Amino acid sequence: MSNRRLYTSISRFLTKKSPLNPTSSLNSHPRLESSRVLSRSFTLSLETTSLWTCYNLLSSNSRVSTKNFCSKSEDKDFGRCWNCGAVATSAPFLACTSCRSVQPLDPSIDYFKIFGLEKGFEIKDENLETKYKDWQKKLHPDLVHSKSEKERTYAAEQSARVIDAYHTLDKPLLRALYLLQLEGIHVDEEKTVSDPELLAEIMEIREAVEEANDSQALKQIQSQIQRKLERWSNSFGNAFKNQEFENAIKSILRMTYYQRAIEAIVKKL
Ligand SMILES: [Zn+2]
Repeated sequence: MSNRRLYTSISRFLTKKSPLNPTSSLNSHPRLESSRVLSRSFTLSLETTSLWTCYNLLSSNSRVSTKNFCSKSEDKDFGRCWNCGAVATSAPFLACTSCRSVQPLDPSIDYFKIFGLEKGFEIKDENLETKYKDWQKKLHPDLVHSKSEKERTYAAEQSARVIDAYHTLDKPLLRALYLLQLEGIHVDEEKTVSDPELLAEIMEIREAVEEANDSQALKQIQSQIQRKLERWSNSFGNAFKNQEFENAIKSILRMTYYQRAIEAIVKKL
């Protein structure tokens, strides 16, 4: 195989979009779709001038002030309910405990805070799904369909954000990307692989997957790649803990590749 063909095929294999869209009964929510695109590509753009975009910008760059991008929100006192004036007694304050009104998005609440987790790669909370469902019981837009337009907007934004937070934290690769995003680091997941060792490995796996004709062989390859994915996830966790961002990015690129390889296998199974 010529070098040109080799690069083309690797590139095609690597640049295939990973289906990170989780299944959800709320899949058709337009804001949710847009938020997923944001979380997947981690490309922050000012083209979408929604409060949502503003939130992501704030998360990735704490130097950006709320005032610059969040003019849409009229209720800036995040420690007090916009509806009844009650002071927030619990954190995060997404819905009022007194009058149950859904509160506007507070840029200081990141995905980890939404679920009461410490910011980090290791998540030892098996109740993430339960917490997510509890939030939806308080924030779902259907609950406020008869309320003011303002509160309906808050509910749509808060609910979409909680969905995005859950699906991001639930998946190691997305969680890793989000952690770097919070540090203001953009990872180009489509970056061309230049490491010869990794290139050789990519080709080896690709050929093995192509040649595997039965599910047993495919599953064997899948479990090997899964182990590699776990190894590099651990590497990311350590690098992030030690603030070694270059190594963290290197680990993420590996994780991205292995994740896509697993998806290619699952498709063939
Ligand atoms: Zn209230």
